Formats: sequence, structure tokens, C-alpha cells
Amino acid sequence: MSEHNLTPPTPEHAPSVVVSEDTQQNSVVRFLFDDHGVRGEIVHLHEPVQKLLECVRAYPPCVKGLLLELAAAAVLIAATLKANGTVTVQIQCGKGPKALNFAFINIDKDLNFYGNVLSDEIKFTEASFKEMVGQGGIMVISAFPEGGTRYQGIVALDKDTMAEALEDYFRESEQLATSFLIQSDVATAYAGGMMLQIVPNIENNLESLHHLTTLAATLQPQELFELSLHESLRRLFWNDKIRVFDPEPVTYRCICSKERIFRVLAALSNDELSAMIAENKGIDMSCQSCGKVYHVTIDELKDLLTAKQQSAADNKASADSSASADSSAGNASSASADKTQGPSIEA
Ligand SMILES: [Zn+2]
Repeated sequence: MSEHNLTPPTPEHAPSVVVSEDTQQNSVVRFLFDDHGVRGEIVHLHEPVQKLLECVRAYPPCVKGLLLELAAAAVLIAATLKANGTVTVQIQCGKGPKALNFAFINIDKDLNFYGNVLSDEIKFTEASFKEMVGQGGIMVISAFPEGGTRYQGIVALDKDTMAEALEDYFRESEQLATSFLIQSDVATAYAGGMMLQIVPNIENNLESLHHLTTLAATLQPQELFELSLHESLRRLFWNDKIRVFDPEPVTYRCICSKERIFRVLAALSNDELSAMIAENKGIDMSCQSCGKVYHVTIDELKDLLTAKQQSAADNKASADSSASADSSAGNASSASADKTQGPSIEA
């Protein structure tokens, strides 16, 4: 990964752009300060957010905004943890008149993400972050490193904003002082944010974090959304030597597929499948994350039922031939195949 030194601009001459601004849209950029024990990331999302919003079309703007903020937060977290695997950021809501059920973003090592909000019928049009999270809500951050051990951290969501909750998380779970700035605009489909975090064992790193956070807090949403990421950094930290890494693109990509739909159908009972076939028309199944509709034809339903009956017959034959065989294992694995419809989709 290459680095670019951003020369601090002086008021007399405009800064030159190192990287094409186009490549900085829908990206996260990591950066380091030469003279401070602080590292950071800045993210700006538009197209991926447009696609994410299609999943929550029916919800009021406040709920959409919560999901957009969660997406920006998840990108910053995934880039920070460098888990080299999937990261899931979930909000498990607590109790309250405006509390949702669940919100999540799944993001893979290449920064492709998807997510959604699950809720009972929503009867409000406006609610704060705290109200939507409800009393006793928690944020669960899980990392599934490739070939490594699953890691999970939990933080209570008792703060007024998502940014404050994330700061608590990194202080408690990672023992790292961190500051977050998270912004979203539902009307124009933008989400973005910045994270600043101390680099351990460097003198005065906490003072530096405080100083740089104060500067970062002056970043206006329209600057974050309209300027290139490098330009935003230059304006904020014009007096500091800053080392900026190449932008890493972020895209929206749901993991649903026809194969996953078939796995969900395979978990149904033969009677349920037979009833569908008796209707003599195929069925439409939609992904609960992105809303994409998959049509399953009557012939595909029939093939599925035949395959299930065949595999049940094979299981019975092998169980008969070995009295000690535990034939329930096959059922258990097909019952757990429902990953597409539930909120806890694993990669
Ligand atoms: Zn999907």
C-alpha cells in the first residue's frame, strides 16, 4: 500500500490533489500524523448507501439514518480491526415505546457490506438514537477472521449517539482511547465519518487525540459529503504533517443467492413443500436483507422435494444398515441452513 504525504496548504496557494478525487468516493482512507501518536480513518459513502436505503424503503427517516450511521461505523470498525475476515456490527435493541428490534451491518474483508433493520410495525415518524435503541440495548461487534478464532465484544448503548457508544466500546474492549464522528443524510443518501485513535506508547498521545478531535469536530456534513476525503483532511489538519494511505473502495453487496434460497426451502418439511407444489405455480421469495426477489419455479420445487425424499431414503437405508447410526444429524444440518432469512447471517 502506498502512502501520500499531504503537504499542509498555506492560505496563499491552493493544495494540489494527490489522488484522483473520483477514486475517493465510496471509500475509506487511513492516515497517520507524523508528529502525533494518533492514527485515523475517514469514510464517505454514497452509492452503497443508495442501495442500502432500498432495503429500508418503508421505514421513517430516523430509522434509515440509524442504519446509515451503522454502515459508516461498520466500515471504520472493519478497517480498524483488520480482521482479514467478516465483521458484523449489530444493535440489539432493548425496551421502549420506540425501540426497534435489531439492526445490523455485515462487512467482509474487501469492504463489501449489507445490512438491515428489523422491527415490529413502526408507528412513529421521529425518534432519537436512544429511543430507537431502547432501554438496555447493546452493540455487539463480532469479527470472523479467516482461519482464526471468532472474536466478540459488547457495549451497552446508554449514550445519546452512536459515536459515543463506539468510543465506549474501544475504551472498554480494546483499551484504546478513540474518538468517532459519524454523520448521515437520508435525503441525499450520504453517510460518512471519521475515527481518530491513539497509537499506544507514544508520548502525549492522549493530548494529541484531544487536540485533533477538537479540529475534527469542526467538519461539517456537507464538507465530508462533497469534498474528496484528502481535501477534508487537508482542511481540518492543515497545520499538521499527515501521511495518507490509498483509498480502499467500499461497496454494497448482499450475500443472498438462489442457492441460499434453495437451502431455506430445503429446511421446510416435505408436507410444506408438497403444499407449495399443489398450488401449481412457483413461489417468489425475497431476501430479508436487500429485498431482492427470487422466483422458484414449480419444476424446481418438485426437484427439491424429490431430492429430499431421496436423501431421506438414503439416510434410512444407512441407519438400517448400522443400528447405532444417529440419523438426526442430517436433519439438524438442514434445519440450520436457514441463513438467508434471519438477521444473523454468517459469511
Ligand atoms: Zn439479499
